[in-house]
Amino acid sequence: MSQEYTVQNHTISSIASKFGTPFYLYDANILEEVYLELRQAIHDSVEIFYSLKANPNISIYNYLRNLGACAEVCSHSELLTSIKAGTSPENIIFLGPGKSEKEIRACLQHNIYAIVCESFQELEIVNDLAQKYNLKPNVALRINPAFSVKGSRLTMGGKPRQFGIDEAAILDNPELLSKYTHIRIMGIHVYMGTRMLEIEPIVENTSQILNLAERIEEALGINLEMVDFGGGLGIPYFEGEESLNIIELAKCLNPIISSFKNSHPKTRLIMELGRYLVGKSGLLVSKVLYLKESYGETFAVTDGGTNCHMAAVGIGSYVKRNFPIAVLNRYGEQVTDVYNITGPLCTPNDVVAKKISLPKLFPGDLIGVFHSGAYGPTASPTHFLSHGYPAEVLVMSEKAHLIRDRDTPSDLLGKQHLVEVQQEFPVV
Ligand SMILES: *Cc1c(COP(=O)(O)O)cnc(C)c1O
Repeated sequence: MSQEYTVQNHTISSIASKFGTPFYLYDANILEEVYLELRQAIHDSVEIFYSLKANPNISIYNYLRNLGACAEVCSHSELLTSIKAGTSPENIIFLGPGKSEKEIRACLQHNIYAIVCESFQELEIVNDLAQKYNLKPNVALRINPAFSVKGSRLTMGGKPRQFGIDEAAILDNPELLSKYTHIRIMGIHVYMGTRMLEIEPIVENTSQILNLAERIEEALGINLEMVDFGGGLGIPYFEGEESLNIIELAKCLNPIISSFKNSHPKTRLIMELGRYLVGKSGLLVSKVLYLKESYGETFAVTDGGTNCHMAAVGIGSYVKRNFPIAVLNRYGEQVTDVYNITGPLCTPNDVVAKKISLPKLFPGDLIGVFHSGAYGPTASPTHFLSHGYPAEVLVMSEKAHLIRDRDTPSDLLGKQHLVEVQQEFPVV
């Protein structure tokens, strides 16, 4: 039996005819379920910071903020997004290896909770600016630890990286930090990797980071006011991957947190998460434009390809694996045919799904790529071939809200300047 896929009683085709395709569709109920499950499971003393990088739409962030999430931002625009949504400055941290002076000034101006510095030169610049404006901002050190833990799809620790300051550079010469007299070094930040789907490495990471925090306290002779132990919790994309069991994770994590908290009652403990909080809530909806055969394979050409969803090309894998995909207007119909789902780009790499089994497709069918609420359009070449950004829709309290307009040709052309050609060429 097939029926239409619905989100809070809205059929996808009704949303598609209202807003056009392609578009990203987010379900606020899923955002809430995911957030609350984590919030209820994880130790009370852990604060959840949302990494806006994963999905910087202000309405998505605002929904999470309303549930209690704080903000981890990495650019001037992300900072302004969090402020515009009404986040109080003591719930904002700013990190990133390449902060511009303008961004550092904005952090100072808004008096955010912590600037997470990633190099000695950055500490110096923050220190100099603070001195100039007669301020003493909170600064946390992003540490590149000497340890690394398996189980992340993108390991950060224990390797040469542009992120953070090597643990040894601080532990071996803590006196180097004493020259920065106009900043308060009050915290540390460690981010170990992303897309973690197993409990053990997350627990191991956290425990090692908390241990590192204690070693840093000892070396610097301070009590840390903030320890951000990252996160990197994943969601399943591909066959064989399973959702993290948050209840089980919390069972293992909470005793470690609790014991750290007992010896550090005043330290703010931060878990920063992007993908995990928003990934499951979103799907890309595109429309099948054409069906064609080529050398024995069938292609469904849609209006929303990798220009909208680069991640679907394949993340961290040489073999193309498919995201969970379905035909939304005939959801649940029996699978009979095999397709390559492609987009409108003029490159053979514009393949959203390869050799995927679906019901027989027709032009006009709506294709849904699930688990796509994180690293969707913002992490895609949306300007390639000048298609522009797709629309974004959030269904909340049973109402479908347009939360971002689709780019139009005038949006794209409006940024460009036409230089008239002055020179006249001789006619030969
Ligand atoms: C990207 C990033 C995050 C968010 O990662 P997710 O895997 O989406 O949770 C958090 N912190 C830092 C430092 C990052 O670079």
